[in-house]
Amino acid sequence: MNKNNYNDAQDDLHSFEAVIGLEVHSQLLTKTKMFCSCQNIFGKEPNSMVCPVCLGLPGALPVINLEGVRLAVKAALALNIGINKKSLFARKNYFYPDLPKGYQISQYLDPVSSNGYLAIETDGAEKRIRINRLHIEEDAGKLIHIGNESYVDLNRAGTPLIEIVSEPDISSPKEAVSYLKELRDILVYLDISDGNMEEGSFRCDANISVRRKGAQKLGTRAEIKNVNSFKFVEKAIDYEIDRQIDVILSGGNVIQETRLYDSKENVTRPMRGKEEAHDYRYFEEPDLPPLILDAEFISDIKKSITELPHAKRKRYIKEYSLTEKDSEVLTQDKNIAHYFEDIIRLNNGRVEIKKIANWVINDLLFALKAKEGNIPKQEDFFNLILEVENSNINKNAGKIVLTEMLLTGKKPNDIIKEKNLAQVSDEKGIEDTIKQVFKENQKELEDLIGGKDKLFGFFVGEVMKKTRGKANPQKVNEILKKHIENYKKGGN
Ligand SMILES: [Zn+2]
Repeated sequence: MNKNNYNDAQDDLHSFEAVIGLEVHSQLLTKTKMFCSCQNIFGKEPNSMVCPVCLGLPGALPVINLEGVRLAVKAALALNIGINKKSLFARKNYFYPDLPKGYQISQYLDPVSSNGYLAIETDGAEKRIRINRLHIEEDAGKLIHIGNESYVDLNRAGTPLIEIVSEPDISSPKEAVSYLKELRDILVYLDISDGNMEEGSFRCDANISVRRKGAQKLGTRAEIKNVNSFKFVEKAIDYEIDRQIDVILSGGNVIQETRLYDSKENVTRPMRGKEEAHDYRYFEEPDLPPLILDAEFISDIKKSITELPHAKRKRYIKEYSLTEKDSEVLTQDKNIAHYFEDIIRLNNGRVEIKKIANWVINDLLFALKAKEGNIPKQEDFFNLILEVENSNINKNAGKIVLTEMLLTGKKPNDIIKEKNLAQVSDEKGIEDTIKQVFKENQKELEDLIGGKDKLFGFFVGEVMKKTRGKANPQKVNEILKKHIENYKKGGN
């Protein structure tokens, strides 16, 4: 390719835009499956959590799990999606060894919820991604491939699922990830889903097409199935956009198909032609009545929705003057956010909130990540903060105490006593130590008095060493300064 052609290709590349829509499947945290009373637990002995209903035995009849409906409605309310008071279950027919009934119970024409949006942050601005629908369905079983043999495990068959379908409003791999993260955060916060992508309880299919910028008509789309991490979602979409542009630039046509992402090679590969809805021969489920929701049922669920992560982040920034970054770290995990808020309640204005946030982020979360151990009780952790803030121990000793707290669950005051970590703040004791250090380092002292100011740090260090780190560094600084001034004036 000569240089001019290459430049043309580059210009061409930038004259395209991507159009992305996401379909998210999320398992619901119900005790039992969607249409039978089998337990809904991951990781049990294969085919031990099954019954005639989820095995699809003749004559077995499904019953709607109300808890599953409640969680689906909760998700819809949190995602600003309209609730339909009447919805229908439908059979989606297809054959696969992990689907014993030969159909999946889903919702088609009248889903439980439709028309909404999720707001995401993109380049510092807010963008609304419209959501077409949220519906209830059941999961299929699982195939396990070992060597040349395949096994069927039906424990997952009948697990409650919601499918959330966005409009094609997403225009980059980054936006896709923001949308998924926001969505998962909300579902996890509200105990609707555990959001575990690796175990497949939160999964995503991406519909991707490209078109010339400014074009109205959508390009032909390809669907990428079940990508199992945020990082891979970003990479898979990125790859697919480039692939489709390449196809068009080299004079070809993008084919409507389902593709699989290979994370080892970082490519997508064709899997099968993309089905259309009519391929599934949907029809109304004859064994289930329409799902009718009354206003009270919906308003009770509405009341149970607590502050969502996005709102929490905004409040931390506004109310506590925290940075965006810190607010994000603190709200990522609901339990940590609640822990932090408990401490703020205990604090009641005594310690600056910024300092408490630093303790949680830089000390507690860091220590928890690095070592095994349990998160201390809120009261104990706050007492540790107070010990340091009130200068009873210095910050270094505070870190030692925290490590011990995580490992042993002991109270900070007991550890301070046991390890003899209380800070030496009495002036007489510090003065005596300083005099001792001066005596032992005459040469350095003369140099310091003579103007070699950087030796000051050396003396602070020596005093701290002599007190085994327990002296209050601020006091040491003050007293040391006073003495040096005296020497300079000719006293001692
Ligand atoms: Zn069952």
